[in-house]
This record gives sequence, structure tokens and C-alpha cells, in this order.
Amino acid sequence: MTSQRTRERLIQRLLDQGISNGAVLDVLRMTPRHLFLDEAMAHRAYEDVALPIGYQQTLSQPYVVARMTELLLAAGPLGKVLEIGTGSGYQTAVLAQLVEQVYSVERIKPLLQKARQRLRQLKLRNVQLDHADGGMGWPACGPYDAIVVTAAPERIPDELLAQLALNGRMVVPVGGATQHLQIVTRTASGYDTEIVEAVYFVPLRPGKEK
Ligand code: SAH
Repeated sequence: MTSQRTRERLIQRLLDQGISNGAVLDVLRMTPRHLFLDEAMAHRAYEDVALPIGYQQTLSQPYVVARMTELLLAAGPLGKVLEIGTGSGYQTAVLAQLVEQVYSVERIKPLLQKARQRLRQLKLRNVQLDHADGGMGWPACGPYDAIVVTAAPERIPDELLAQLALNGRMVVPVGGATQHLQIVTRTASGYDTEIVEAVYFVPLRPGKEK
């Protein structure tokens, strides 16, 4: 179920769906998605679907992880990247293999703790995690070359926009019942927004939980 052949089938599907960044595809091929799921769900790890991780949250669909990562990297190599919504830590692990330093914020403590263990197990050391309300970003470590938000706000928090470096880009699902993935680029005069495609994410919620 977690065999190389099963994983290869997933990569082929991502290629068929238009994912074209070879480095992103290689990282998805090598990253054991089953380790980011509870045992009862692990047998479905290499299907191209979102899967439950408890606390009413989900591990994003591989296509969405690949697409968001590809969009983040499209303007060239990245130094510091902020992720909002660590969840299982899977997107964090993918990013850590493609950029210099990842900062990731999660509001549900047990999810963050599990993610921390998994990232340690995979020896991904260029990751810093924080238990906080990601709607506020992580101002102490910014500004960031890129920000990826894996839960959907109704509108993009100003705090996140403010923590984007000049020429930095944010990939973020925006909306409620209907959501669209947006790329926001910080320019000398403000922010440019490009709408990419319809998506469905859990909502970005305020505050943090124990
Ligand atoms: N990237 C994750 C996707 C997890 S789902 C993965 O690959 O597994 C989205 C996550 O965002 C959930 O874990 C949810 O708790 C978290 N989240 C929602 N609102 C948040 C907020 N304001 N700050 C930090 N995390 C938030």
C-alpha cells in the first residue's frame, strides 16, 4: 500500500493534472505521506484525496500541495517561508526540502506536537514550529520571501500581507463556501493579486486551542 509503485502512480496522476515542476514532483515522490496519517488512514496515503487528521482538520490533497508549492517556487529559489496551518506537517515537510527555512504556525496543539515528531523522525531540521493564531503571522521572524496559507480566510489578514518581503509572494485560498486560490505579490507600490483556481480548504479560525 505504501510501495514505490503506488507512489509512482500518484506522481503520474499529478503530471497528468499539469504539475510540471520536476523538483516538486521528486519531493512528493520521496516524502512518505503515510507517516503523516493515523494508522487507520495510512492505507489511503497515496490516493489523490484530502484525508482526516482529527480535530475536524484534513491533510490536503497531494494535487493541492503540489500546486501550491509549485506556485510558491515559480519566481525562483526561496529563503524564508511562512506556513499558516501546520496540520499534519506534510506540506511543511515538502517545503522544507525545497526552501532554506520554514516557519509554520498551528492553532491546535496536539496536531502541532504530532507534526513536530514526524518532522524530527524525517530529520528535517530547517523547520521552526509555533503554537499560535496564524492569522497574526509570525512577526518576530519575518519578513518572508513567501507565505503559504493552508486554511481559508474570508479575507486575507493585514498582518500576513505586512509580513511579506518586497517581491515576496503569498499563496492563499480565500473565501467561505466558495474559495479561490490567490497569488498575492508584494510590489514597491502595493500588492498584485492573481486568481488561480477554485479550491476547498477548512476555514482559518481565530485564536488558538489547547
Ligand atoms: N498543511 C496541512 C493542512 C492542514 S488543514 C497539512 O498538510 O496537513 C489546515 C490547518 O490549519 C488545520 O490544522 C487548522 O487547525 C489550521 N488552522 C486554522 N486556522 C488557523 C490559524 N488561525 N492559525 C494557525 N493554524 C490554523
